[in-house]
Amino acid sequence: MLTSLNLLEAAGMVLVFVGALFLGSVVVPGRRIKGPDMEGNTREYKLNGLALFLITVFVTAIVQSMGWFSLSVLYSQFAALFVAANVFAFLLATWLYFRATRNQETTTGFWRGYFFGALSNPTWLGVDIKLFSYRPSLIGLALFNASFAVMQYETYGELTLAMMLYQIFTFLYVFNYFQFEQGMVHTWDMISERFGWMLIWGDYVLVPFFYCLVGWWLVHPSDVLHPIAAVAIVLLFGFGFWLFRGANQQKHRFKRKADIRIWGQPARTLEGRLLISGFWGVGRHLNYTGEICVYFSFALTTGFESWVPYLLPVWLTVLLCHRSLRDEQRCCAKYGDLWTRYKQRVRYSMLPFVY
Ligand code: NDP
Repeated sequence: MLTSLNLLEAAGMVLVFVGALFLGSVVVPGRRIKGPDMEGNTREYKLNGLALFLITVFVTAIVQSMGWFSLSVLYSQFAALFVAANVFAFLLATWLYFRATRNQETTTGFWRGYFFGALSNPTWLGVDIKLFSYRPSLIGLALFNASFAVMQYETYGELTLAMMLYQIFTFLYVFNYFQFEQGMVHTWDMISERFGWMLIWGDYVLVPFFYCLVGWWLVHPSDVLHPIAAVAIVLLFGFGFWLFRGANQQKHRFKRKADIRIWGQPARTLEGRLLISGFWGVGRHLNYTGEICVYFSFALTTGFESWVPYLLPVWLTVLLCHRSLRDEQRCCAKYGDLWTRYKQRVRYSMLPFVY
């Protein structure tokens, strides 16, 4: 039941959480890196996401183990937090749009400017708000995931094998994101997308509240995960993670310095601009394929009793297939003939010999 008190408490939690991470982004030291060239401009980014994630984990672990606060509150207040996060996302999008128009930084019309964003990289107090927003998004997701384990433990006095696997997988996934936060500056969202309601809602609502869907299913177990099924799921996760992380890492290393070695050989490229070695010589979007395998491994921990947890990997598959097409259009416009040559050389996008 949603009451005004619940909603007020949830609004307070969202504000304190996002505010603390923002303050942390300003004051916690971090390596500074230069981003890619964007229409003649290069930005500098401070990378302290990993430190903020680890500080959050540490503080939460202490607060939970001392009994000062239970993460299960996130589970019980999920609906109120969902409403509060939505309000926050709408307000942030509105503020960013009107700030850009007030400073005459945009001529984009209201609906387009509000929905897709008026600016590509708005900053506040020296913090790039687009890069920052991934922090509450993924740390929020990690906290929701942890709250499911706490809830199960408080209810049944133990954790199931499925819950343990889910916790390990999702922790590694979020940890990996922050470990390679520098790679984010070369992603499509950072380079090409404007920062409006669409990305803001994705960061503050969609990712933390929908990407934890599988965890919900695991809290009250109805089926026991067979150890052989668990081994198969671990193998799928390991394979997907290797592909996802490996492909992203190869590209990030190449973007920093074209002259690298991949799989023990000097990297082969097309005119030094497009990588055709390693995963990028096997498929044009194998990083997407790897991430899809990772999400299927999350869902498989729930067994086959319900199709609902599978909504998450199916959604991601549709999103990433669509994204691969949009990205190819962008690359075709940017690289012209070179992209055509790349497509002739690396014929498959996400699934070798199939697609
Ligand atoms: P990529 O990291 O694949 O980046 C695409 C860009 O990489 C292209 O636009 C191009 O940009 C460059 N590029 C493409 N091919 C090559 C090549 N052969 N050699 C060198 N550069 C190349 O995609 P995204 O930015 O979309 O995604 C990044 C990660 O985020 C992925 O792992 C994806 O799975 C994940 N993701 C997750 C989502 C989720 O909801 N969980 C949503 C979206 C993404 P350039 O102009 O720099 O050359």
